[in-house]
Amino acid sequence: MNLVLFGAPGSGKGTQSALLIERMGYTQISTGDLLRKAVANLTQLGQSAKSYMDKGDLVPDELVIDMVREVIGSNPKISFIFDGFPRTEAQAISLESMLAEFKTGIHKAIFLQVPNSELMSRLTGRRVCQKCGAVFHVRNKPSSKDGVCDICGGRLIQRKDDFADVIERRLVAYEEMTLPLKDFFQKKGILSVLDGTGETEVVFSGLKTILS
Ligand code: AMP
Repeated sequence: MNLVLFGAPGSGKGTQSALLIERMGYTQISTGDLLRKAVANLTQLGQSAKSYMDKGDLVPDELVIDMVREVIGSNPKISFIFDGFPRTEAQAISLESMLAEFKTGIHKAIFLQVPNSELMSRLTGRRVCQKCGAVFHVRNKPSSKDGVCDICGGRLIQRKDDFADVIERRLVAYEEMTLPLKDFFQKKGILSVLDGTGETEVVFSGLKTILS
């Protein structure tokens, strides 16, 4: 089964995807993670994407779509969670046709609903391990030693796009481009809305119910 997990930046898509991978054997395609990797590795894609990401804007559809096509094409038979993709209607339509080529499709689209007031506090407090990518939060999930990853001992940093001015732009992009996907998936009859405000495990149990 292929799932799309969508919602605002900070709605918990990455956290819930990690649990789906660990406990239910899904494979994640996170376009945000793939793009950050491309930027870190100074690939051509990374160099094209960087300026958009730094500003909090969406990376152009064709770049992101090509990147996803490559990953799906290398292993089309497994169950994917698409995390942070699609983010526009054009991406959603491309994803459907890419999956159709492999005789599969999007089986469920789960919208993680979190109010804007909470998103801002989640994002400004988020800290990410530079080495292993583990995610912490200064108030909700602090590491045991300030600035140090509990998992690998790497340094915790604030993502450049988790500063307040950039977050505002990301939220605008989300509202204009991504929120309309709710209607898109509703019309396809595959939309589920999940309250993303509770504890991680509570949200995850809602997710499991949707998937059962
Ligand atoms: P994320 O980690 O999912 O919040 O993504 C971080 C940034 O990567 C976003 O603010 C965008 O600049 C870019 N990005 C990630 N996924 C997409 C996508 N599907 N379409 C366009 N830009 C994306």
